[in-house]
Amino acid sequence: MFFKEIDLKKDKINKGVALEKTTKTKGVKTQKQKKVKAKPIDKVNNKIKSKKSQRAVKNINKPVKVTSLKKDKNKLKIRFIGGVGEIGKNMTAIEYGKDMIIIDAGLTFPTDSMPGVDLVIPDVSFLVENQKKIRGMVITHGHEDHIGGLPYILKDIETPVFGTKLTLTLIENKLKEHRLKEVSLNCIRAGGTIKLGCFTIEFINVNHSIAGAVGLAITTPVGTIFHTGDFKIDFTPVNGQTIDLSRISEIGKKGVLLMMADSTNIEIGGSTISESVVKDTLSHVFSDNSTRRLIIATFASNVHRLQQILDLAVEYKRKVAFSGRSMINIAEAAAKIGELNIPDGLIIDIEKVKNFKDEQVLIVSTGTQGEPMSALTRMASGEFNKVTIGNNDTVVISASVIPGNEKMIYGVINNLYRLGAEVIYESLEPIHASGHACQDELKMIHSIVNPKFFIPVHGEYRHLKKHARLAQSLGMKESNILIADIGDTVELTSNTMKFGEKFQAGSRFVDGIGIDGADSFVLRDRRHLAEDGLVVVVVSVDEASLTLNSLEIIGKGLVFTDDMINEAKSCVVHALDKVDLRTIRDESELNGIIRRSVKNYIFKATKKNPMILPVVMVV
Ligand SMILES: [Zn+2]
Ligand SMILES: [Zn+2]
Repeated sequence: MFFKEIDLKKDKINKGVALEKTTKTKGVKTQKQKKVKAKPIDKVNNKIKSKKSQRAVKNINKPVKVTSLKKDKNKLKIRFIGGVGEIGKNMTAIEYGKDMIIIDAGLTFPTDSMPGVDLVIPDVSFLVENQKKIRGMVITHGHEDHIGGLPYILKDIETPVFGTKLTLTLIENKLKEHRLKEVSLNCIRAGGTIKLGCFTIEFINVNHSIAGAVGLAITTPVGTIFHTGDFKIDFTPVNGQTIDLSRISEIGKKGVLLMMADSTNIEIGGSTISESVVKDTLSHVFSDNSTRRLIIATFASNVHRLQQILDLAVEYKRKVAFSGRSMINIAEAAAKIGELNIPDGLIIDIEKVKNFKDEQVLIVSTGTQGEPMSALTRMASGEFNKVTIGNNDTVVISASVIPGNEKMIYGVINNLYRLGAEVIYESLEPIHASGHACQDELKMIHSIVNPKFFIPVHGEYRHLKKHARLAQSLGMKESNILIADIGDTVELTSNTMKFGEKFQAGSRFVDGIGIDGADSFVLRDRRHLAEDGLVVVVVSVDEASLTLNSLEIIGKGLVFTDDMINEAKSCVVHALDKVDLRTIRDESELNGIIRRSVKNYIFKATKKNPMILPVVMVV
């Protein structure tokens, strides 16, 4: 482990950072060390990358106004880099004078309109431009929509990272995969406080579907900002640590200028069920399936869920085999830092499953969202040679479907049924407790924090709008609420809140291993190819006489009969007959003539507008 836990008892203030105990170990840097040691990881590429990202952004977001960096000493600026108007790639910067802190650095998964893109991360050009101001990055918890962008973003900006133990363990795994070594990771416990520039940030324990989630109380020169992070209120959490409501209400009593709060479950009335209730439901699954093999798919990062599943396995005398790389990695990491208790002898290798009777085995797998490469998806399609699904299997999917993944996960469920398995998923049994507060919990937080201003976050536009209405229903003035978009700056003084200038923000695509490997041009081509197909026109020209030697037309991805091909050929021949090839200046002019000669005909014949690719050979 290359981060060091900071003990909060002894207050020791470094320049810009208050860390109660900082110990040097290999790879761990305190703020002071960092100033000397931490180097920009990818300095050379910064400029190129930010330029590329500007180009990519142009086509996916509204026109971008260039930021003017007017200094306004009395205003605090909140920059929404991601995570508003969407559920995903959360990232917010808070800026005052020469200081800036960043909250979270998430990723999101591509939509259908982004073929071939693996991940989407926030465009951080603004942060690159303002590198000098960045005092630190504070991470609320270890979900992908909060940490997934980190390994990419930390190649562009340099900053120490602060988070709780499990969060940093998950980040550390990511950084290792990306071979990023020179990053300062600083462990803060819930209840702890750090000082970054003019900001004092207190970490407050909240309940969520991952251990180590915190909300943030940020003391700024204009007042206190309370950021809930992703949260719910669970009075019977698995690890016994209820959201620190008493501390939140103390902070509320002292006066909160602005609250930013999770809007994910604003459409759901009442309260979320406690994580502990899940155990009862799962317990029934174990007792009802006592003669069958059990396979439970869950999020690897939901360590509390995992703990309950392992406890049930012990109770029902089953051995546990983990399946899926992220499941194994996270379980190991969580066990190492004491977040997960795995009794000796409980875990068996997935290869050994065949040596046990069905009723003696529980397989815990990744793949709750039908991710194509996940263990569960491969089991369902019969491509996972370590586990063959049959009619004595019961598969439990213990997670709710993230909107947009329905098709994939129902595909997996269909395939599992086809192989004879029994499948238990959300629509049948309450086997999942959401990690996000529903309306009643949100009302409680609004009441005890009682902020002057409110900005709903972590939601699509309708969630934000409904969350704003909920705040109004509790007595907040409409004029004290703003709904922000990506690229918006909100300016805050001790008694006003309004929109400031726009800054450059949006999405960057990660394609394969590279950032911006798929910019908007590539995506446009991919969509074009997918929808309309491709026609290749191969023209061979005799070098000596400059006359047409041969002509070949190939259609891919569209219905293109021999008759149509012959007709298209005659269009090309006809067009080339009309021009004297000696007068043609360059290849692109000839390509243009060829393209135009067949375009109309192909559209008339196929009702498609395929990409036409002329290939001219002079022989
Ligand atoms: Zn989360
Ligand atoms: Zn989230």
